[in-house]
Amino acid sequence: MYSPTLSELKTLPHGALVLDEGGVLRDVLPHAPAGADAEVHDYGDALVMPSFVDMHLHAPQYPMLGMGMDLPLMDWLNTYTFRTEARFADADYARRTYRRLARELITGGTTRVCMFSSLHTDATLILMEELERAGVTGYVGKVNMDRNSGDALRETTEQSKRETLRWLDACADFRHIRPILTPRFTPSCTDDLMAWLGALAEERGLYVQSHLSENGGEIALVKELHPDCSQYWETYAKYGLWKDHTVMAHCVHSDAREREALRRHNVVVAHCAGSNINICSGVAPVRTMLDEGVWVTLGSDIAGGAQLAMNRVITMSIRASKILHMKTDGETAFLTVNEAYYLGSTAGHRYFGADGGFAVGQPLHAIVVDDSVFAEPVRPLDLRERFERSIYLMDPGAICAVWSDGRQVVGGAPVVPGKGDGNNN
Ligand SMILES: [Zn+2]
Repeated sequence: MYSPTLSELKTLPHGALVLDEGGVLRDVLPHAPAGADAEVHDYGDALVMPSFVDMHLHAPQYPMLGMGMDLPLMDWLNTYTFRTEARFADADYARRTYRRLARELITGGTTRVCMFSSLHTDATLILMEELERAGVTGYVGKVNMDRNSGDALRETTEQSKRETLRWLDACADFRHIRPILTPRFTPSCTDDLMAWLGALAEERGLYVQSHLSENGGEIALVKELHPDCSQYWETYAKYGLWKDHTVMAHCVHSDAREREALRRHNVVVAHCAGSNINICSGVAPVRTMLDEGVWVTLGSDIAGGAQLAMNRVITMSIRASKILHMKTDGETAFLTVNEAYYLGSTAGHRYFGADGGFAVGQPLHAIVVDDSVFAEPVRPLDLRERFERSIYLMDPGAICAVWSDGRQVVGGAPVVPGKGDGNNN
């Protein structure tokens, strides 16, 4: 099953995916070709669907998952977050923590990420290594932050520039993990640093990720810092950081003008519903954004979000949309399971150039879900019901295989060399 567009869920009972030797998807067929001279992975009656994409999360906040949920954003950052991130000056601690994070991501079915590291170059390289080792692919950014971060976590403007260049040199050879420029957010970066990063993005053709319009206190602070800008997004645009494929987390309070700027410049929204509710930031107007043609994806935003598993992020985004639905007396339609899955899967895969659900011509990114581990239903379920239940209930125990960039990186299935029998799932 796969979701080629926001409104569609396609199902192929007993369907087959045909891969070439490099793991690139060559065909999606209603059944396995009889007598094909190929190795066959038979997943029996399990569900096969495109994997998840987490478009916004903070790796160094993994150890503080589930903590500090009683504070608003700026206090939460100063009390918990910056202190936790400071710990990643210790390479051994970074190695242990990131190995575990990478494993939890891949066994949960997240094969592509757009991720923040901390400001530490060495820990960022360790994070990239551990993601590579586990089979997670995507973008990781060494964070740039040269103001407003307290004593424990600070770099000067010169250090920030120097370390960014050292990091870019050192990570040039990673195969599946690439660098993305990551000014933490406008309050954390001086104008000098922002201008330098904008020029670097242009010069080296790098993508950019940051935060936008998450919370009232933050927006007021940005206004104070940039009185010349009428809106938050302009503080990025001013320095060349607002461009095609720039990822902006949250956009909870983006009004019609800011949303139009998102759409016009092909800037990607990473909607982080759980985090926005935990920190009492608000509920982003996702349905309105989708109606307006804004590119919306989903992020776990750990540790503002307390769930790393993307299927839980997906169901959280459904609940958040139902809050807006109730608040508008039913006028704003909530997200359906399929729509939310599309945002947490296909819309994210698009960022990496793969469109249409199972994207022919692209290396396979897929999960295999054994839904027989859930409670025995009172009657046989159809595929859509099985899909819905899996999205709500799956955990690593139900995910029996994961394919990432054309390689099976988790689990296995009986491999039948040689001929397919025409009846494989
Ligand atoms: Zn964030």
